[in-house]
Amino acid sequence: MADETRLIRAGTTPKALAKTVGPPIQKGSTVLLPNAEALYDDESHVTYGRQGLAAQDALQAALAEMEGAAGVALYPSGLAALTGALLAVLKSGDEVMVVDNIYKPTRRFCDRVLKRFGVGVRYFDPRTSPEELVADAGEATRLILMESPGSLTFEMQDLTRIAELARARGLLTATDNTWGAGHIYKPLEHGIDLSLQALTKYVGGHSDIFMGSAAARDPALVRALGDGVHDLGWAVSGEDAYQMLRGLRTLPTRMARQGASGLAVAAWLRDQPEVAAIYHPALPGCPDHALWTRDFTGACGLFGFALRPGPETAVNAFLDALTLFGLGFSWGGFESLAISCDPQLKSRAFTRDYGGPLIRLHIGLEDPDDLIADLRGALAVYAASRS
Ligand SMILES: *Cc1c(COP(=O)(O)O)cnc(C)c1O
Repeated sequence: MADETRLIRAGTTPKALAKTVGPPIQKGSTVLLPNAEALYDDESHVTYGRQGLAAQDALQAALAEMEGAAGVALYPSGLAALTGALLAVLKSGDEVMVVDNIYKPTRRFCDRVLKRFGVGVRYFDPRTSPEELVADAGEATRLILMESPGSLTFEMQDLTRIAELARARGLLTATDNTWGAGHIYKPLEHGIDLSLQALTKYVGGHSDIFMGSAAARDPALVRALGDGVHDLGWAVSGEDAYQMLRGLRTLPTRMARQGASGLAVAAWLRDQPEVAAIYHPALPGCPDHALWTRDFTGACGLFGFALRPGPETAVNAFLDALTLFGLGFSWGGFESLAISCDPQLKSRAFTRDYGGPLIRLHIGLEDPDDLIADLRGALAVYAASRS
């Protein structure tokens, strides 16, 4: 045969791969089937690369192990996991009840897309009791979507009780568990039907990949999630799945360190005269500490605090005076970050007085004493700018 032909046949997949610690990263849209019958047998064969290959399978298996799930669906971003799970279980005429402190882009999807397709959306105050919440569900209500703690104001809901009451009424429950990452909080073990998270944050851990997951125990829900991914044509690459799996190996170690550092920084902040309040459910005395103690086995490095009242110029001077904290959205990486939150609260229906301008910190893997020194300097700038 000519080189043109030989070079297309040469250098294909080896029959057996050496066993490495992690899975192989297979790159393939086309999957070669062993025989003609297998072409249309997608029960026993992967027939197309979009279904996921070795690295995606390994990541799904590891996440299912961590979450205590029967199956896990992967999405190209955390937001896609939220939207994908909603689309997988809702239909026109249904209503979804959504906690008001939900991640803002999820709210945007509910308002702009779900409503356009005839799904009713009703927001509830994160302080609503489980009894009031479930009693308020109507004929059309199909799903209750939560986020606990919320990623800006850190209110928690009693997910165990809500799941129990919702199940008795035939309602599904879902939670955005990015804060708990499937490690320090496992929603499925507490009766929640759908555990959703932005793997982009703690599982990735290095601020360089997007991915999301949805985990469930009920085989019918696992199938619905998988069908939803298939129907919408989503896929994640083998390289990204491999990187995610690499992040997963050190997730507990990183979260333990970042959680402890976050608590040290929060405890220091609590005693500073320029600080009005701390919002960190793992810190004794903070709102929802009892719920956190009951349900969580650790904390991550994300929390909020309110500065004493001051103008926006002083808040910006505080943020600009930080040298170790980057100013940026996202969190869960190895680096510390800070943002101001108040502009994001404007879209909410139920707000309260947090005591002053809200700041959110993400504590990374730096030494907490260095971070505290950075915050001390910035608080001095704040004190000078607001007086
Ligand atoms: C970041 C984030 C998401 C979305 O994740 P992406 O991968 O950025 O799409 C969803 N929920 C919460 C709470 C988040 O912080």
